Amino acid sequence: MDKQTLSFQAEVKQILHLVTHSLYSNKEVFLRELVSNASDACDKLRFEALDKATLYEDAPKLEIRVWFDTEAKTITIRDNGIGMSAEEAVQHLGTIAKSGTREFMAKLEGEQKKDANLIGQFGVGFYSGFIVADRITVETRRAGAAPEEGVRWSSEGSGDFEVETITRTPRGTDVILHLRAGEEEFLSAWKLKSIIGKYSDHISLPVLMPKQKWDEEKKEQVTTDEWEPVNKAAALWTRSKSEITDAQYQEFYKQISYDQEPPLAYTHNRVEGRSEYTQLLYVPAKAPFDLWNRDKRGGVKLYVKRVFIMDDAEALMPVYLRFVKGVIDSADLPLNVSRELLQESRDVKAIREGCTKRVLSMLEDVAENQKDKYAEFWGQFGSVLKEGMGEDHANQERLAKLLRFASTTADEGVSFDDYVGRMKEGQEAIYYITADTLAAAKNSPQLEIFRKKGLEVLLLTDRVDEWMLSHLYEFDGKPLQSVAKGGVDLSKLQDEEEKKAAEQAAEAFKPVLERLKASLKDRAKDVRASTRLVDSPACIVVDEGDMSSHLARMLKQAGQSAPKSLPILEVNPEHALVKRLEGTAEGEPRFDDLAQILFDQALLAEGGQLEDPAAYVRRVNALLTG
Ligand code: ADP
Ligand code: MG
Repeated sequence: MDKQTLSFQAEVKQILHLVTHSLYSNKEVFLRELVSNASDACDKLRFEALDKATLYEDAPKLEIRVWFDTEAKTITIRDNGIGMSAEEAVQHLGTIAKSGTREFMAKLEGEQKKDANLIGQFGVGFYSGFIVADRITVETRRAGAAPEEGVRWSSEGSGDFEVETITRTPRGTDVILHLRAGEEEFLSAWKLKSIIGKYSDHISLPVLMPKQKWDEEKKEQVTTDEWEPVNKAAALWTRSKSEITDAQYQEFYKQISYDQEPPLAYTHNRVEGRSEYTQLLYVPAKAPFDLWNRDKRGGVKLYVKRVFIMDDAEALMPVYLRFVKGVIDSADLPLNVSRELLQESRDVKAIREGCTKRVLSMLEDVAENQKDKYAEFWGQFGSVLKEGMGEDHANQERLAKLLRFASTTADEGVSFDDYVGRMKEGQEAIYYITADTLAAAKNSPQLEIFRKKGLEVLLLTDRVDEWMLSHLYEFDGKPLQSVAKGGVDLSKLQDEEEKKAAEQAAEAFKPVLERLKASLKDRAKDVRASTRLVDSPACIVVDEGDMSSHLARMLKQAGQSAPKSLPILEVNPEHALVKRLEGTAEGEPRFDDLAQILFDQALLAEGGQLEDPAAYVRRVNALLTG
């Protein structure tokens, strides 16, 4: 192929601009990114070579070499990994195929403190080379390809890049950075070594650099042609627990997660039994910016005897635990099967189950012993964990115990166990209300009777709560019951006198109810005397089997259609406004206005919207001035 000049994809141009301009204060990360690409390339070769050993050619020992040239002002990162064909070079180094590009860019633009970890998290590491280089040349030959099928890719990192065919003997890739003027500090063995030590110690391949020697005559360090490893190249997880310090665990976490914060908790175990594997799993303290991207790549990597196999998130962890980071290394999975087969494998499923249980124990432990830490975790990942209620029926009970809520007793941190411990004598259900905001939930008229009776009600205001409730019906044998659904039967909590009084009042009130029903026949399927109201005149409830109005509203906002079912209006016979109805003759236009107002107010009180606000205002004004 003759030399061709091609244009970067538009997103790449933007990323290049952002990365080079906003990450300058953290420029040394370029080396971490390029070394990790080199290491990935070797992992890929090792995997492909499992059923095609000839790919190793005459160089089975995989390694990474880094060197610099003071005269030419270049740094070279070489690997003997998988390499790239011309097509692959154009594809991988000229376009970004990943989802979430826009979020990434918005985040990078918005960040006050430009966070260099974002590039690693997002995976656009290659371009970070342009922070320090005004030209990058990549020379590469794909494993198995003939020397004449080598490729040279080159770019100044602005609008376009060049590709051409070259002859290249070594397998794998050289990335040559031509440093910008002013970046000479990186032309130092000490500097490069210290960056590699800082970021790339865990890479399980040797990273080699030319050995330096003191020259007595020149009185300076000179480069020899002997190569020496500059990283430890020891996969941390393969060592025994007793040999690893907490600081090493923390450092390893930083390296695999690109997270600056220390992890919330970690667990490292060798599992023996039907399936033998090692797990080193971390729960982060902070949510990444792309937590809501359910198809992002996984934080957990699967190795088989230290050979990287895949990081297919869902095969290794349930989606609701997608924030977990770490490594799983199996001792007995077959190496020579395809990724597709591995995903189907029963052993992988067993590993997935085992790891899920581990993570849950880890969380249970934090919840039990470090309540403040758990509260922080809950703030970051609680909504994600709730997804598990529907996704993981096998662990539903354990998960339910990990949930935390706001309630009428405490604004946060209430567990089902706390709630059940505070249940009143005779109380049979766990009561909850769903609403858009905590304020709306707290002020719901439906809560009045519960407040008066001292019954705790859980206040659910998270968007996933409605969905979660469609999978969770009970806890510890006690049904979950919405205070805004169906009739509330608090009769077990009433004394005889109260019961009698309520019955009599209901009887006397019947005629008014009939008239209200007639007035509101298009808006309410029933009108009844309420047992839940104390201070408010009316509230809206839905039938036991119907969708809550909160959920119906959410669906509507999301542009989906909600099944149309009329709600029930409950009125408080003791309230002055309702008493006024009794004194208003039937057929009088005034009665109808009052009925409509009652209904509209109940709708407003629960955060709903009026279909005809102007009519409401007119009616209220007529009442105020009349
Ligand atoms: P990521 O590593 O997250 O995929 P990068 O921007 O770091 O993103 O790299 C982009 C792609 O370029 C890689 O996925 C890989 O396909 C290719 N690539 C980069 N460096 C190398 C290398 N040394 N050998 C082979 N392929 C590479
Ligand atoms: Mg990379």
